[in-house]
Amino acid sequence: MNQRLERLVDWLREKDIDFAFVQAKANVFYLSGFYSEPHERLIGIFVFPNAEPVMVCPNMEKPQAIAAGWEYDIISYSDSENYWELIENYLHKRNQIGNSIAIEQEHISYSRANALNNIYKNANFISVEEKMHSLRLIKDDQELAILKQAAQLADFGVEVGVSAIKSGKTEMDILALIEYELKRKGIREMSFSTMVLTGAKTADPHGNPGITEINRGDFVLFDLGVVLDGYCSDITRTVVYQEINDEQRRIYETVLAAQNASLSICSVGTRIGDIDKAARNYITKAGYGEYFPHRIGHGLGIDVHEFPSMSENNDDLLQEGAVFTVEPGIYVPNVGGVRIEDDIVITKEGFESLTKYPKELTIV
Ligand code: MN
Ligand code: MN
Repeated sequence: MNQRLERLVDWLREKDIDFAFVQAKANVFYLSGFYSEPHERLIGIFVFPNAEPVMVCPNMEKPQAIAAGWEYDIISYSDSENYWELIENYLHKRNQIGNSIAIEQEHISYSRANALNNIYKNANFISVEEKMHSLRLIKDDQELAILKQAAQLADFGVEVGVSAIKSGKTEMDILALIEYELKRKGIREMSFSTMVLTGAKTADPHGNPGITEINRGDFVLFDLGVVLDGYCSDITRTVVYQEINDEQRRIYETVLAAQNASLSICSVGTRIGDIDKAARNYITKAGYGEYFPHRIGHGLGIDVHEFPSMSENNDDLLQEGAVFTVEPGIYVPNVGGVRIEDDIVITKEGFESLTKYPKELTIV
């Protein structure tokens, strides 16, 4: 059994849980190496404390699951079959009891939980979510190698975008070019909807790109990432087009210094909330506190937003191998916004930035 499954098995034994049922795409991939978008179909894994695990997946995906390295039983089904009947028969044949069942409380539908409950009427549900978070929190060398490459491709995306800035070009012109060039490098999927924003629109942290043209004196903000071999990257850079005013310069330099304040304390043992506080205190002192409305960052891995949440009230301590974003921003309505975001891994020595695109104020 692979180490990831083993760790989950150890936990089931320790907690005296009869089995875990894992069916969130990212968790299935983490445990099995099988990366697949199930849509409404079920792809899940039953993990037992004292027996081999079993996967449930559509017939048509069975060869891919095996090719990905799954070497245990597979309950496979056609679109006309009721897979819950197949699951029930399988579990009964194994004489599997289900008094306590661990499920992904944030990621399982009510109907699936009900279906399990129909098989095991007296089931007591326990959350496996936190355990999966803590397993996925520390990245191994193979994961780090992929994350590094994904970050390089994000750097490349920004490079393409910055080089394409020109009067008359729209946000979508530049966005399309970035994604086109990344697709030519083999990237099928972005880790989220690419963001290219200009001018006053940069003041919206979750703004929507459109056919707005770039004008002299605009901030241009890029926020993008790729999915590579199942892992995500996430970078933000902000540049200025042709000329800059004093307030834009002040905002930019404040965000950059705030990010450095957070980065400078990124090391093993730092309280996560303090990473947020370092940037927040800096921005507040500069008078922009009310314009930094979000947490400093989020964990990064198979999901573009995963554990841990890098928020002010998180008392957890940073551990070696944790990967997360550090992304302070200042967003002033009608003026514009700046965000600078890097992907960080905690190392023995401190931290390493996986994204490396330059950050000094750039006037294109
Ligand atoms: Mn981002
Ligand atoms: Mn982010």
